[in-house]
Amino acid sequence: MSREGRTDGGTADEATEGAAVVAAVEAVADRIEDERDHLTELDSAIGDADHGGNMARGWAAAAETARDLDDPDPQTVCRTVGKTLMAEVGGASGPLFGGSFVFASAELDDGVTAESAVAFAETYLQKVEDRGDARVGDQTVVDALTPAVHTFKKSIETDGLPPLEALAKAVDAAERGVAFTVPIRAKKGRASYLGWRSVGHQDPGATSALYILEELLATAADALDSEVPDADATSPTIPDEEPDEAAGDGDGDAPPEDGD
Ligand code: ADP
Ligand code: MG
Repeated sequence: MSREGRTDGGTADEATEGAAVVAAVEAVADRIEDERDHLTELDSAIGDADHGGNMARGWAAAAETARDLDDPDPQTVCRTVGKTLMAEVGGASGPLFGGSFVFASAELDDGVTAESAVAFAETYLQKVEDRGDARVGDQTVVDALTPAVHTFKKSIETDGLPPLEALAKAVDAAERGVAFTVPIRAKKGRASYLGWRSVGHQDPGATSALYILEELLATAADALDSEVPDADATSPTIPDEEPDEAAGDGDGDAPPEDGD
């Protein structure tokens, strides 16, 4: 499904868009490096204290490989970033964060449009959910991504907002999602080993996802020569559960009897 008239591996538009995506990746790498210690601190409270290092290593390598690409289109940049994250982040989070990124890049066949950005976001979230088997309320990155992705989609498809405003609302929703991870109990990932002792801690993966989205917003505003819009979101959008799923899997939210 390539662009019509594309004979040389990319159009001028795609090269401009590709350069903007590389700039976004570089901004993410810088921000994650700045937040490395904070992310490590969060992960030391409920995990193994490697999230700052994992993400900083992965995104620094991603920025370097993205910079080395020759006039890439956005899809090539994203695919390369995902593969680099897979290789450099390693462990369980490499395939989760990087592999899902590679998969979602397939949605950028025709460059970055409001429609393809929504498709990218939805596919990324879907893949992270599938690979990690996590849902909203499990105290993971999914708690930040779900409200962000659904708010982005609704802002564009239902509310007809320009993509930059939709992205600002998505960032706002992600911020609420990060706050939501604090009072809940981890049910996936290393933090779940702590059982109820994970309550009261902010999830590191949700936090780094918020930083990534904030940098995406800042670089998108830059590329469009606009101010970062004031999100003023009234409510993040989380879809209703299917009735069957809502019927529950039995593990509910009741306190444990064995005091773990
Ligand atoms: P690791 O857990 O292998 O040490 P990191 O510390 O880099 O990897 O990443 C931890 C983050 O990964 C968590 O804060 C959480 O957001 C996310 N995560 C862990 N397990 C899952 C899962 N099964 N599904 C979704 N996200 C997960
Ligand atoms: Mg960790």
